[in-house]
Amino acid sequence: MSDPVRQFRVAPSVQMGNGCSANLLATVRAAGGRRVSVVTDPGVRATGMVERIIEPLKAAGITIDIDDNVQPNPRDVDCDTGAARAKEHGSNLVVAIGGGSPIDQAKAIAMLVTNGGVATDWQMKRPFEVDPLPLIAIPTTAGTGSEVTRVSVVTDTGRMFKMTMGDPRMAPNVAYVDPALTVSVPKGTTAATGMDALAHAIEGYTCTVHHPVSAGLAPRAIRMIAKHLVPVVDDGGNLTAREGMMYASTIAGMAFGNADVAAVHCISEAIGGLYDTPHGIANSVFLPWVFDFNKGADPRRHADVAEALGIARDSRSDDAVAAEGARLLEDLSERIGIPRFADLPSVDPADFDRLAEASEANGSTPSNARPISRADYRHILAAAYAG
Ligand code: NAD
Repeated sequence: MSDPVRQFRVAPSVQMGNGCSANLLATVRAAGGRRVSVVTDPGVRATGMVERIIEPLKAAGITIDIDDNVQPNPRDVDCDTGAARAKEHGSNLVVAIGGGSPIDQAKAIAMLVTNGGVATDWQMKRPFEVDPLPLIAIPTTAGTGSEVTRVSVVTDTGRMFKMTMGDPRMAPNVAYVDPALTVSVPKGTTAATGMDALAHAIEGYTCTVHHPVSAGLAPRAIRMIAKHLVPVVDDGGNLTAREGMMYASTIAGMAFGNADVAAVHCISEAIGGLYDTPHGIANSVFLPWVFDFNKGADPRRHADVAEALGIARDSRSDDAVAAEGARLLEDLSERIGIPRFADLPSVDPADFDRLAEASEANGSTPSNARPISRADYRHILAAAYAG
């Protein structure tokens, strides 16, 4: 039987290079941007980079409204008010400057302005009716890859559940991947977002939704992260390592964005919805546990991941190499200072049934390499808590 036909989509333009965000004006002009909403968050704004990036737009007479009402784990209600604000401003283009949170909120705002309704109307990847406003994404963390994906993940505050909106038209039209913008990211966030990118590459490669291009990209991203993550956490001023991580994050985004994620993300989104745990930390905590749980279901792919992480394959079995990969992931988390699950704020074993239920309900559960039940999720939560 032949493979299913699968499209591979990327943003029409992905510009990469230190300082490339200085070219924003040319893209805004080409897209006919006259009144622009800039979506960012207070932490990014405090670095001064937002004002620096938009200065040429202001000088060119483009009218700008800066909306920095974005929280980590962006909220449905802020997407709704952001869309109302963009309409009031008469925006015909949206620029996101920030990590995955501002980019995801900007995606939702660009969509709500033209499609109407509120964010929660559009969950479960309900197809859009019309094109969103044009969107330019400028990531400032090396982790989510949201600048090249077609989904937006925001918290449904009524249900304390991270929901997904998605449509091929949700992907940003242009991404400026500028590693120099990540130099100011604090150490802990550098570590957690780097593990997030690694989770994307690993799940994009090992999940059941395969794409041949993703299968080529993901191991490349894993090798880059294996090389650059520890150096960048040790020295945030190491621009070579910042570049390696930023490009790996975008490559991993292209990989999983055309395949899927799996159980790591199902658990981390459940935890993010309930406890507001930063996404990168939640992913980091569960990556070694899920890798260990899954490896027997597809030893070859898990051994490929281990090899990309730097483990010599020699003449050993895939099972043996994959098992060493699981141990390496655990060591890596510890080496870069990822907290233990039990040490995260608010975590309470009394919630594990609820978290297991929310994990199972995630749309990516069927994509996990090994079939995974609510009881399995419960078991992983308890093991990680005890671990
Ligand atoms: P984030 O955007 O929430 O940012 C984390 C913190 O880092 C914030 O306090 C922010 O102010 C700060 N920060 C960001 N850039 C900085 C910089 N250059 N200098 C100093 N501080 C900086 O974190 P994130 O991990 O990038 O994004 C997480 C969100 O992305 C989650 O909501 C997650 O669900 C989502 N996500 C989306 C996709 C997708 O494809 N749409 C994929 C993965 C994750």
